[in-house]
Amino acid sequence: MDHLFLGSIAHSKSLDDLETIENGFLAVKNGKIVGIGDRASLPAEYSSTLPVTTLTSSQFLLPGFVDCHIHAPQYPNIGVGLDLPLLQWLETYTFPLEAAYKDNDFASKVYSAVVRRTISCGTTLASYFASNYKDSSLILAKEAVKQGQRALIGKVCSNASSPDYYIEKTEDSLRDTETFINGVINLKSALVKPIITPRFALSCTSELLTGLGGLATKYDLHIQSHISENCDEIKAVKRMFQKGTYTEVYEDNKLLTHKCIMAHGVHLEDAELKLLKKYDTAIAHCPTSNTKLRSGFCDVRRLLNAGIKVGLGTDVAGGHNVSILLAIHDALNVSLSLNIIKKQNILGTGQIQHPSDDCNKDYQALEYKNALYLATLGGARALALDNVCGNFAVGKEFDALLVDISNKPLDLFDIPLSVAEKSSASHSRLDKMIQKFLYVGDDRNINKVFISGKQVKNHSD
Ligand SMILES: [Zn+2]
Repeated sequence: MDHLFLGSIAHSKSLDDLETIENGFLAVKNGKIVGIGDRASLPAEYSSTLPVTTLTSSQFLLPGFVDCHIHAPQYPNIGVGLDLPLLQWLETYTFPLEAAYKDNDFASKVYSAVVRRTISCGTTLASYFASNYKDSSLILAKEAVKQGQRALIGKVCSNASSPDYYIEKTEDSLRDTETFINGVINLKSALVKPIITPRFALSCTSELLTGLGGLATKYDLHIQSHISENCDEIKAVKRMFQKGTYTEVYEDNKLLTHKCIMAHGVHLEDAELKLLKKYDTAIAHCPTSNTKLRSGFCDVRRLLNAGIKVGLGTDVAGGHNVSILLAIHDALNVSLSLNIIKKQNILGTGQIQHPSDDCNKDYQALEYKNALYLATLGGARALALDNVCGNFAVGKEFDALLVDISNKPLDLFDIPLSVAEKSSASHSRLDKMIQKFLYVGDDRNINKVFISGKQVKNHSD
């Protein structure tokens, strides 16, 4: 739990501020960060008392990734069944699979693999949806505790608009949720906590949502659900609850809090952004599934400009990869696509057009530094855990990745100096290493993963 790292270190201090230290130190005592800075300012007490790891020239430290939205039981469906939009996809592929988690043996096998794979891909904090079943949901919590992953675990609740083989009665859903909450609390884990999890407004009656809001208040818990993902879904929610907006449904049931995170928010109206801001409720941006399920392009800039906290989610298995690196790629691709559409009015019509007057010529696409923020500190803020993790600020717990860009799939070349001198001088060697990892790297480039100072991945895992 004690470490002294010497070498390259990078972490986000805000959306636009990525601090890079080329020849630095990072000191950890009892799992917490006690010092960070230039090597020249390293206090002698650290080098004499802490076990030292000297990073190679191809290695650097990054904060661990935060996955704000992942469905653990859908892991077996990764990469299949992405040919339908949301509501049909749920009926055809997702509900039948989730119903299988009544079987605790099956759940144990899958959940062990999910936690192992997410850690291997660098996820140090995950907000998981489990299934409707309290017993197998508790198995997921125990697996996270066992493997040392920081996690919020939710027993999913649904008592409406669901198939008869995968639906709960209101009283059973509330009773099982409370049993599950106490089951997780009784694990006495500093890392793993329960989270209130109505699947989405469409699959819950007002009575159930109100009851869940009451449990969140009673136990002071985090809350997660889905919002405004797909146009058909939004119409159905407005019809079912007779509300002007989707967000009001959650507001009415006391589910909007500063510890609440809603997935997607692709089509949020301006008034809804104000409501989310009022309650300091966050959005989990899941660009991979938004594209794969044809939901739409979420404009993260618009959310950020409205003062809303945003993190990234893999949304497995609407998203086809457990790695937040893919969410980073896709967040950048969606943002660039919006930039092309909004700024240049290019729609692929075969007609060469010039940006019209109504184009937003000031629209700024996200850059890799912004996406790295969303994947780390932004995610921790969105889950209201940024006082604990998300970057390397002194006092936070050491959740980190030791990245090595000399591993496959990256090839490193020493560019002749004369050429290097002519290339962009604005990027330091560490900046370039970070970009290579984010754009081209994968879990093979993550040699070690630390959570609360404890190493939970070795390169050979
Ligand atoms: Zn989801």
